[in-house]
Amino acid sequence: MASAARPPSQPERPAGENPQDGTADDDARAAIEAGERLFARPWGFIRGVPALEFLPEANRSEIAFAGRSNVGKSSLINALVNQHGLARTSNTPGRTQDLNFFATENVALYVVDMPGYGFAKAPKERVDAWTELVKNYLRGRPTLRRVILLIDSRHGVKPVDRDIMAMLDEAAVTYQVVLTKVDKISLDERARVLKSVGEAIARRAAAFPEIIATSSSKGDGLAELRAAIVSASLLDL
Ligand code: GDP
Repeated sequence: MASAARPPSQPERPAGENPQDGTADDDARAAIEAGERLFARPWGFIRGVPALEFLPEANRSEIAFAGRSNVGKSSLINALVNQHGLARTSNTPGRTQDLNFFATENVALYVVDMPGYGFAKAPKERVDAWTELVKNYLRGRPTLRRVILLIDSRHGVKPVDRDIMAMLDEAAVTYQVVLTKVDKISLDERARVLKSVGEAIARRAAAFPEIIATSSSKGDGLAELRAAIVSASLLDL
């Protein structure tokens, strides 16, 4: 079962079914392999950015991960790089409100772990600080190529997720929805949530149409997500 899916308006073509277009599958395979190579490298933590003046120089592509707290963001970043302890934002005191930058040597890419949003009982100052940092980062970062917007596959798109989609649309930053924890739902539920999330992004200006369904614990969708990051980064690996 393919773990990448498109909204109903763009049906996915099974591999190799169009004889006139032999290169599309080759391109897809090459992207998967490039993604594997990129994330087989050792990745390290560069810095936590609590305010925009601490941002590293915008001299390379950036791909940022966003999502509600507890969506599985740290687990997914760790699974992508196959390094258990890389992203620890959810349990590293002091770092939960930062933009956390990761890099690997000799590749012109930052992976950015954005602070989680949607805490049920967050104090107003904390929400305001989050909004200020994230809004300004999204508006003013010319090298930010794509935001990977994580949605818990058990819960679908919540109002707070729509708020950040609106923020991304307004900032004209392309975002790709990635479902997390698909090992926790049945295949029927997976199809249902892919459909409902596809509908939720269908008319959104900056949403990338392809949704990837992932599981950090079982590995579903990781190869597709790695490939999507390579394509979005415009890296020639
Ligand atoms: P974060 O707050 O978004 O960084 O979320 P975490 O990565 O800390 O994950 C939150 C909880 O969800 C933890 O208990 C994880 O073990 C669990 N979790 C994360 N990803 C998966 C997954 O793919 N499958 C399952 N079953 N649980 C997951």
